[in-house]
Amino acid sequence: MLAIQPTDNSQQLSLSANLPDFIREGLNDCFNLPTLPSAAIKVLDVARSPNANVKAYAEAIQTDPILTMRLLALANSAYYARRAPTIHTCREAVARVGLDTTLATTLSFNLFKLKDQAAYLQRVWSRSLIAAIAARYLAEQLCPGQAGFVFTAALLQDIGVLALKALYPEDVEAIYEPLPTHHSELIHSEQLQFGCDHATVGAWLAAKWGVPTHLAEAISTSHSDFTFAPIDLFCVRISGLIADAWLAPSPAHSLVSLMRKLKNHTEAQHIVLAELLSTIETQLPSLADVLEITAPKNLDSDALMAEAQHLLFQQTLALNARLEQQQSELANLLKRQDELEVCSRIDPLTGLANRGWLEEQLSEHFTHCREEGRNLSVAFIDLDHFKMVNDQYGHLVGDVILENFGKLLRELVRDSDLAGRFGGEEFMIIMPNEDAHSAQQLVKQILQKLAEQPIAYVENQPIHITVSIGIACLHDGGFADSRELMNAADQTMYFVKHSGRCGIAIYGQ
Ligand code: GH3
Ligand code: MG
Ligand code: MG
Repeated sequence: MLAIQPTDNSQQLSLSANLPDFIREGLNDCFNLPTLPSAAIKVLDVARSPNANVKAYAEAIQTDPILTMRLLALANSAYYARRAPTIHTCREAVARVGLDTTLATTLSFNLFKLKDQAAYLQRVWSRSLIAAIAARYLAEQLCPGQAGFVFTAALLQDIGVLALKALYPEDVEAIYEPLPTHHSELIHSEQLQFGCDHATVGAWLAAKWGVPTHLAEAISTSHSDFTFAPIDLFCVRISGLIADAWLAPSPAHSLVSLMRKLKNHTEAQHIVLAELLSTIETQLPSLADVLEITAPKNLDSDALMAEAQHLLFQQTLALNARLEQQQSELANLLKRQDELEVCSRIDPLTGLANRGWLEEQLSEHFTHCREEGRNLSVAFIDLDHFKMVNDQYGHLVGDVILENFGKLLRELVRDSDLAGRFGGEEFMIIMPNEDAHSAQQLVKQILQKLAEQPIAYVENQPIHITVSIGIACLHDGGFADSRELMNAADQTMYFVKHSGRCGIAIYGQ
């Protein structure tokens, strides 16, 4: 085995700028970084040369009999053979598996030789293996021309772990043993410890070996967000997440949450989950065998799919129920808000508009009527000698009288008018579009009714009341605002009081 030095393109790669200085210097000085077999270096040389073809690849590989045997084994494995006849030459093998897969196989043979390695490394490679199969399946659906490249990048995405292990064996041991279930936790710990993650370091190592730049870049961005990734890198980035789900303590749960994350991704709509899972299940043992690593736990993809669907169904039901509950809560809140809004405008004793609503409405009508040249009348009504009524019959009777007077007003006013209780024993009627004369006709009926019928009975004795009413009209004075109009009606009402009560007066007449 040789330490590889042929074309070190790590300096050209902008991604090495993401390495903290101490890591870069450490890597440059490190004498036990993972190296490549000489045959792999030759294959890389061929891969970079303009005449990279099956013949050149095969010639490079043939220099290593073990590599040749493994490539033949791969080419004759179930996935590649697909009932085709068994092949015996390196050239046929390269032709069958493709240049990219040949490169991936060549690069990864030695890396995966881990029979006596720590458990965490076993797990890292299990992840790479599952990711590579998932990535190739995805690429075959989404970007078939790049399937080989995507397979290679997914397989090598975690090689940075090896470089970090060579550089800081104790730190790595502390972080990786036991290996966190979620890759994101691992990345977080690496960021804290080294100021960068294994993807950046892996890209540096790949570049150092002299792999094509795009491959090093795919490794470097293997942890990045997949949302806006080019389609080949999208396949690489989600391959790791699929592998994490496969290796998770509860694969179905992890798969469902991954599917939810992918829900709005256009390309992801083409992924057939059941097919993806069954591809992993069937290819995992043979690929592990060819790469000489202990196969990770295999799952029954049908059972996994059924469980995931069941979970998804349950979660959707729960979500719908929650949505329904939220909608009904919202409807109740809106209804309550409407009720409160209505309450805030109403005088509780009479059920008529209260002072706040009267003033607001008068102000609005004033503005609109003046702008549109329409008339507007306001009547201010005060019950006569009400204090005496209270004194004579008590406050409760006084309240009944106020209530009944409210009913009387409600019966008399038209839909276009607004009657309200201004406060105490004072009432107001707003009459849009009415002049003084028609306003007077309306309020006259109040006096008539009060004269005709008692407002209440106490011990079968009828009680009669009278009122004093002042009217003011928009067109009858130069009122600057609604308050001036209202004050004019109030003053006119007082004029009636001073003139002996029980009567109507019009402002300005
Ligand atoms: P005037 O003819 O000059 O208007 O004499 P008045 O007695 O009606 O006027 P005054 O302002 O002196 O008294 C108003 C009375 O109305 C005093 C107050 O106790 C009574 N009053 C105000 N609000 C209520 C109420 O909600 N219920 C009852 N029962 N009485 C009220
Ligand atoms: Mg990784
Ligand atoms: Mg009064």
